[in-house]
Amino acid sequence: MNSNLANIINNSKSLQLLNAYESESDEDEKLSTSSTKRALNDLPDDIPVKRNKLEKLPLPSFVIETEKIREYEDDPSLHGGRIRNFPHERGNWATYIYLPYKGNEYFSQLVDGVADICLPITKLEIVNDFHISLTKTVILKYHWIESFVSTVRTKLNANCLKRFQLFFNSMEVYTNEEKTRTFLGLNINSGYDQLCDAVQIFNECLKEFKLNSFYEDPSFHISILWCVGDKKNELNGILHEINNFVTNFMDKNSDTDWTIEVNHFICKTGNKQFIF
Ligand code: AMP
Repeated sequence: MNSNLANIINNSKSLQLLNAYESESDEDEKLSTSSTKRALNDLPDDIPVKRNKLEKLPLPSFVIETEKIREYEDDPSLHGGRIRNFPHERGNWATYIYLPYKGNEYFSQLVDGVADICLPITKLEIVNDFHISLTKTVILKYHWIESFVSTVRTKLNANCLKRFQLFFNSMEVYTNEEKTRTFLGLNINSGYDQLCDAVQIFNECLKEFKLNSFYEDPSFHISILWCVGDKKNELNGILHEINNFVTNFMDKNSDTDWTIEVNHFICKTGNKQFIF
């Protein structure tokens, strides 16, 4: 094959890949840069690219094959050793609703202190985004997102939940349902009824989409530390020591505002966030 022709075919594959990638983007943008248009116009007539309208091509078979392989070959080292609870599939969006918590400087010190106490048992990772989950993580199909979000919005508006405050004062050890990860969480010890009201609304929405409800006996918490595997027994063995530290630390820093103001919920689906 002469090298010009090989270049043209490679360029064409790259453009097809670019098209395939863009077909997954949220905004469904059209190819528009002038350099891309020029590259398209430079291709010979027998290469199947639609030049005028720059329409997307069907997903090429070699890309579909690559996607299939990716679905089965999950590499836990790419996400801190965590094992996916569900296979990554095109069009499946991991979704959950939660209350965000920003924390503060003292909260970070509290988290570091707890991590130090746990070191003889295991090194724990700090959770990236502190939050209180109000649904399990469920899988939404891409084309359901809009309708799901609008259902949540409508039901929340109809129920008029009032703003409220939350407090935490002790820790508990949790594992995920598959027991592949362990979490240390700060228990929310107030506002249980208001949180349950919110959960009930979200459960109704989930039911309409045939998705799993939250736990029947919710234990609301902010996970602060986690590790791979089931370390529940080991960490429960030092829970008394951890809780002593938490109580003393909060007493010593009683001027700090440890309250959590609840004035909005967030639904995270894939890389999108909807605020209610
Ligand atoms: P989260 O930080 O909200 O993701 O919670 C950490 C883990 O706690 C999740 O994987 C949940 O499955 C688990 N968990 C176990 N029991 C409960 C419960 N009763 N209520 C809430 N979460 C729970």
